[in-house]
Amino acid sequence: MKYMKKSFSGMVPYHSELITDGIILNANESPILPPSKVLDEIKDKITKIEFNRYPDMDEVELDKAIARRYNVKPENVTVGVGSDELLDVVFRAVLEPNDIVIGFTPSFSMYKVFAELVGAKYIPVFGDENNIFNVDDMIKTIKEYNPKLVLVCTPNNPTGQYFSEAEVRKIIESTDALIALDLAYIDFASKDYCTISLEYDNVITFKTFSKAMALPSIRVGYAISKKDNIDMIDAIKAPYSVTTISQIIAKTAIENFDLYKGQIKMIVNEREKLYKELKDLGFNVYKSEANFIYVLFDDKYNEALLKNKIYIRKFKSGVYRITVGTQYENEKLLEVLKNER
Ligand code: PMP
Repeated sequence: MKYMKKSFSGMVPYHSELITDGIILNANESPILPPSKVLDEIKDKITKIEFNRYPDMDEVELDKAIARRYNVKPENVTVGVGSDELLDVVFRAVLEPNDIVIGFTPSFSMYKVFAELVGAKYIPVFGDENNIFNVDDMIKTIKEYNPKLVLVCTPNNPTGQYFSEAEVRKIIESTDALIALDLAYIDFASKDYCTISLEYDNVITFKTFSKAMALPSIRVGYAISKKDNIDMIDAIKAPYSVTTISQIIAKTAIENFDLYKGQIKMIVNEREKLYKELKDLGFNVYKSEANFIYVLFDDKYNEALLKNKIYIRKFKSGVYRITVGTQYENEKLLEVLKNER
């Protein structure tokens, strides 16, 4: 990368293999399509798009639909090309070089990348010997380092740990630093408290259409916060980034959120079954409130899965994350693991 500036010399292209065949349990995707009524409505609306026009750069109709779902004002909502774009924008908007960012570790790998891109320092907060995070450790680290930005991902990717609303409030109220509250997987958890960001000046919540809404293909995420923080994001975000097709599909999906409840429940039930089965097999599994399970097992299990075209996420030797699939897919996975036992 001849023209890359020196401070980026460690950067490498992000790559994740596109798998099209087999049982795909490596990317925290939904194992099934959105509800058929949603798909039918989408197909109908797509035929009416004026493809010769730019998208609505203010995403007015989509913001309104998201606002209606959470009973907030459209001025408290903005959307981006996945929550990835919105997180990146917030890092760029808030941080000067050498500023401090704090986050539980391990967590979503892009937080560290976004911090590096702006030259900020990422201070990790580790869990106990079982990778269980403690809110008081986070608060202690905040006091010690005086960060500009704090990342809280709940349920946490990849460990699945869920923080209650009270725990999150405790972190928020301990600091004036901006809290990026990443709720990408909260629809699979006991309670969604995404609107607490409207009670504080220092919180932005991030949600996405990529997980429970089963639409990672359209790349739409959204932020909910006080108007001042939403204006900050909109001031930095690239104009027209969210396409007309994506806006229409996302709007149709969120207006029909009730239709998703059945499939979300199915995934949660499957998660609980899978957790129990993995535990019964004697693996070190983590309790999860997301659509995936973090598990520590010998690499031979992954090799056996690969031979059977079952793909899970490997972080390093012995450390894996399994996305919850359909009942059929989970049973296939368990069958292979049992055979290796
Ligand atoms: N946050 C977390 C915790 C994630 O796991 C992901 C995707 N894997 C994202 C944000 C980004 O999601 P998207 O850009 O698809 O909205």
